[in-house]
This record gives sequence, C-alpha cells and structure tokens, in this order.
Amino acid sequence: MSNTTAPEHKEFQAEVKQLLDIVIHSLYTDREIFVRELVSNAADALEKLRHTQLTERNIFDDKQPLEINITTDDTAKTLTIADYGIGMTHDELVENLGTIAHSGSKAFMQALKSSGKDGTQLIGQFGVGFYSAFMVAHEVKVYTHSWRPEGGHLCWTSDGATGYTIEEAEGQSRGCRIVMHLKEDAHDFANAATIKRILAKYSNFVGFPINLNGERVNNVEAVWLKNKSEVTEEQYKEFYRFQANAFDDPRYTFHFNADAPLVINSLLFVPTQNMEMYGMGQMEAGVSLYCKKVLIDDKPKKLLPEWLRFLRGVIDSEDLPLNISRETMQDSALVRKLGEVVEKRFLKFLDKEATDNAEKYAEFYGSFARFLKEGVATDFDNREAIAKLLRFESSMTEPGKTTNFTEYVSRMKDGQKAIYYQIAPSRAAIENGPYVEAFKARGYEVIYLYEQIDDYVVNALREFDKKSLQSVSSDKVELDDAPAAEGEALAEDAATKLCDWLKDKLGKRVENVRTGKRLVSSPAIALLPEGELTPQMRQMMRALKKDDEMSAPEVILEINTRSGLIKNLANLTDKNADVASLIAEQLLDNSLLSAGLIDDPQPVVARSMKLLEALAEKA
Ligand code: ADP
Repeated sequence: MSNTTAPEHKEFQAEVKQLLDIVIHSLYTDREIFVRELVSNAADALEKLRHTQLTERNIFDDKQPLEINITTDDTAKTLTIADYGIGMTHDELVENLGTIAHSGSKAFMQALKSSGKDGTQLIGQFGVGFYSAFMVAHEVKVYTHSWRPEGGHLCWTSDGATGYTIEEAEGQSRGCRIVMHLKEDAHDFANAATIKRILAKYSNFVGFPINLNGERVNNVEAVWLKNKSEVTEEQYKEFYRFQANAFDDPRYTFHFNADAPLVINSLLFVPTQNMEMYGMGQMEAGVSLYCKKVLIDDKPKKLLPEWLRFLRGVIDSEDLPLNISRETMQDSALVRKLGEVVEKRFLKFLDKEATDNAEKYAEFYGSFARFLKEGVATDFDNREAIAKLLRFESSMTEPGKTTNFTEYVSRMKDGQKAIYYQIAPSRAAIENGPYVEAFKARGYEVIYLYEQIDDYVVNALREFDKKSLQSVSSDKVELDDAPAAEGEALAEDAATKLCDWLKDKLGKRVENVRTGKRLVSSPAIALLPEGELTPQMRQMMRALKKDDEMSAPEVILEINTRSGLIKNLANLTDKNADVASLIAEQLLDNSLLSAGLIDDPQPVVARSMKLLEALAEKA
C-alpha cells in the first residue's frame, strides 16, 4: 500500500471504462436498482465481517453495530450508504473498484460481446454492481477502513469516466461509506421518501438493520424459516431476486422444512434463465449455507453436487456448529449429509413437477437439460433418480414430442432384453438409417438421442430399472427371429462363401463379416464390437488430439442375405471381381457412414466415382 499523502490517480481497466460508458449513457429506466446493488454490497460486507470475527483475532474494531445507515441530503443533493463491514484496503480498492472482478459485471460484458445488442437492453438483466452508482451520480466517494488494523483510512473518488484517485482520509470507521453526488436528473434520490420506497421494494430481506436518516426501515426476517402458508408468491420472488442477485423470476420454488434426520429449512430456486447458455463459462454454486439465520458460506462448493450449480437459495440447519469455518465445512460429513438429503428431496420435487405440469417442465428441460445429463454422468448415487427426469424422442413418439425411461420400460415387450437407443444428429438421420428397422419390425421402441454428450450419459447410466441400455449399433444386441421377413435369402453355403470373400477383400477394416437377423430392407450395417470407440468418443478424441491420425474402427459387417444387392454381389464375385471389390468397399463405407464412423469422406467419394464409371460403361 502506498504511504504517500498525495492523492494517487489511477486509470480504470479498459473493460471498466467500457462498462461505465454504457452505465452512464444508458437510458435505462430502472435506475433505482443501484440502491439495491449498493445495499446488497453493504450487507455482504457485514456478513463477511461477522464471519471474519469468528476466524480472526486481530480486527480493526471501533465497536460499531452491524448495520447499514443510509442518509439523504436534499440540500447538498447527496445520498450516502454506509456499513460497518469488512471495508477495503488500498489494494482491494484498486482490485475491486478498478477492474471487472466480480461475476455480475463480467457476465454483463460477456453477454454484451456475444449478443450484439446494445447495453441498454441488457443492463436490466444483469447486475452491474457497484458501478451502477454512476447511473445517478456524477461523483462517487468511497470512504473506507478495512477490518485489517494496518488497512489505513482511505478515500476513493471517481467521476466514472477519467479514472479514480485514492487518498488518505483520517478518522474513518471500519467498513465503507459511499457518498453519491447526484446528477441533476437524479436529484430525486436525495429525497428520503423516494429512498424509503425503493428500500421497501428491494431490501426487505437484508439480514441486517437498515436505518434511513436514523430511522429503522426493514425488519430482518428469514423467509426460509417461515411456514409455507405464510409466504406469498411475491415474497418468494423478491427473496429470490435478492438472494440470487437476479433479475429474472424463479422458474421453480422449492420450500422445504424437515426435522429428521436433520433439522433443515431450505428454500431453493431454479432460475428462469440458464446463464451458462450465454456462453460465459461455468456458474458458481449459488445455494448459501446458514445455521440459524447466520450465513456460514454464501457459495459453498461441496454442499450440493456440482451439476446442481444452477440452483439458488438457502439451506439452513441448526444441527451445524455455528463456528464451523469455511475450510472445515468443505470436509464435514454433516454438510455432505445435509446436501444429500436436500438433493434427494429436490429430485423428488422435480419428478412430481414433471408429472403434474409437463408443459412447464418441458420448458425447464429445454434450458436446463445439460445439467441433468451432467448429473447422470457424474452423480453416481443419484443417477437413476436423475435419469428419470430425462426426456427424449423415440421411435414411438411423434416428432417433437418426448417420452422418458419410466414410460419406455412400461412399454417394453415380452422377451425384449434391453432398452435400445441410437445417438445421431437428428430424427431423420436415425429413421433413414439402417439400424432402427430391425427394432421396429419386432415392435421394440428405440430412444433417439441427438447430442454428443448423450453418449456419456448412457455409458454412465448403463441401466435403468435393472434393464441394460444398449446402442442399436452394438454387437451385443441380441434379437430374436424377425417376424416373417419377405423375399428369398441366399442359400446358406452361398452366404458363407460371400462372407468369407468379403472378409478377405475388406481385410483389416473389419473384425468379422456375418449374416444377421437384424436387417429388413437395408443390405448391410456396421456393428461396434465391445471396446471399440463410439462415433461420439471418436469425435471427442479427434478434437483433443488434432494432429494424430486415429486408427480406423474395426467393425462387424452384418449383411442382409435377402437384399437384392447382396444376392447380386454373391454372383458378381466370380464374374467381375474388380467391380465386386469396389462394391464391397463401398458397401462397408456406406455402412460406416450410417454409423457416423467415417473420419475422412474423400476416399469414399473417389471410389463412388469409379463405381459410377463402371456403371456408365455398362449402360
Ligand atoms: P459484486 O458485489 O457483485 O462482487 P461489485 O461491483 O458490486 O460486485 O463490487 C465489487 C467488489 O467490491 C465486491 O466484490 C467487494 O469485494 C467490494 N465491495 C463493494 N462494496 C463494498 C462494501 N460496501 N464493503 C466492502 N467491500 C465492498
């Protein structure tokens, strides 16, 4: 920290300048949200202080109460928001108020970059935190002393445009006192009645007393400890926005209290918006841990599994020791147990919602399916319960309509040995491909999966309701005889001969060539032996090691001896071995294409040209 008494002038980071430019020039109508942002910062600073008091001995303590004091001065046209929280040191001032350090404004800048919209439209959806003060003030002063005794008495000043200065200012209390010199068009915010109205709207849930010009304006209450019947929808919504620092409405609200095995009072929210869809990286965990209304950790990482990071809200348990530190909390068996109980109840809640209001659930699913899939792939203990929540199309649904594993199992036929699925980019790709026909012919349902990560999901899940999941292209699939297939098949010895010939011609490209019961009208399919990489895995591997050649897959080629093409090919092997060889290679490639297993299409195209040549010659 600097010891000079001369004011030190610093420039804002470029991104902050850009943000401030938007903030200052935006015609955003809800300017009053800056009150909420600053009060929420003050409350955070008090929470942090309360926590620091439990873990640190040496605290700059001027015996001030943990409260927020707001004062308006209608003559000087200023608004002051002061807290006795943790305050900031010189370096923290530089880091926190001179760069884009926090998630809210980072998210805003990222959305701005990726959306191409102008900032005014976006500013309502994101909190820009401290910087929002510049929507109403032409000058902001932050007087502060850190909780650290060596922190110094400081004053940070800025007009929000040219940068800021930091200078010494003797006699500061611990915490921050933010003085806003209001712009001409914002003088109304120096009016006590205006601020009172805004506080009533945004700051009901602040866990510390707020005084406006010396008068108490809020009553500190913990909604999650109340009885469900005592809380209105509007209060839930307000609390969500307050706790999550969000601007949308909660999509689902799950308020649950239990006495056994642990005393739990929790209030969880699923947001409307999935912030990860804006391409701004992983969200942080957002369910805070409390013990009897005292915040223990606002973003505990190990309370709930990572895939539930989209949840917001509060879990409060009086079984926790109050002085549990954040570090020991991470390893506490009690905390894990707490998380497990809440997760199980939440999964039940979602399942019920999905049944009771399928349409609403479908909307949720549209935005949040990624998390559920991640859950199945990573949350070992709960994967079946999460899998129950998955939705997908199948050979028995209309396009665009979905079904689920439970329904699938209830429709399974006698003798059906497994749950079948195919992963391909679209319904059309699956239905025009050669795989599903064998299953359809037997009345078996096939689940259609369209995303690359579905491969992880099914591989992690392995089974549902004790029935194994099998890919339609797996060599392991066992099917009974197809009901009366049409057309005459090749004689058995001719078929064996053809298989041997094909094996010889295709050499290392196949593990085996055989006749099979799967095919109805397609001439051949490629099956994946166990242990071979799936097309999705191959894609991932290719993305990872770009330069390395991947070895070609070794598949099992299953041929349909009723197919005209196969029968003609059997004849052609003796008559015109050259053309027969070309056909054999192309047959395999076409099967690999349908399976999504062709890495390089060029040789396929070149050969098909040769085949066309042969065809043209004959015609
Ligand atoms: P956010 O609160 O979302 O992190 P802000 O832009 O509002 O972002 O604030 C940036 C940082 O400045 C905060 O993370 C905090 O470290 C610090 N800060 C803001 N207000 C205060 C305050 N009243 N007391 C202590 N630190 C504060």
